[in-house]
Amino acid sequence: MTEGEGGCLFCKIARGEIPSKKVYEDANVFAFLDINPRNPGHTLVIPKKHAATILEMGEKDVGALYERVRYVAAGVQAGTKADGLSIVQSNGKAAGQVVTHVHVHIIPRYLSEGPVSLEGVLGVKKMADETLDGIAASIKKSIGNGSEETGESDFDF
Ligand SMILES: [Zn+2]
Repeated sequence: MTEGEGGCLFCKIARGEIPSKKVYEDANVFAFLDINPRNPGHTLVIPKKHAATILEMGEKDVGALYERVRYVAAGVQAGTKADGLSIVQSNGKAAGQVVTHVHVHIIPRYLSEGPVSLEGVLGVKKMADETLDGIAASIKKSIGNGSEETGESDFDF
């Protein structure tokens, strides 16, 4: 939160203090064209309330954000006549996050450019079955820690 409302680039964009190519806005989210588009129509959807990563947001706020991502994504696809969409959200420097205000990329994709999947970002790593069991156990044990809205049951959603 240190660079919160005051100096944060995306907070300034959401408040209209820095101009942007806005495509959508409501009480809670703001959507605008990425200044470094990967394809025409590359759009960012951000929550107006500052949070550096998705883990700093409440679960309901994340849900509300992604409802709007779906809403805006339909417009991006129709408005660009894209063949598909990549929807990407990175958390932390290790994940390639540059601006430390949560943002969801909606990137129009075209069959003509050759579909690049996650393979283009990270190659497949072969892992032993025991390794996968250990990782799954560790994640399972950790799920629900830090959750404020659920946490009573593992599977009953
Ligand atoms: Zn911000």
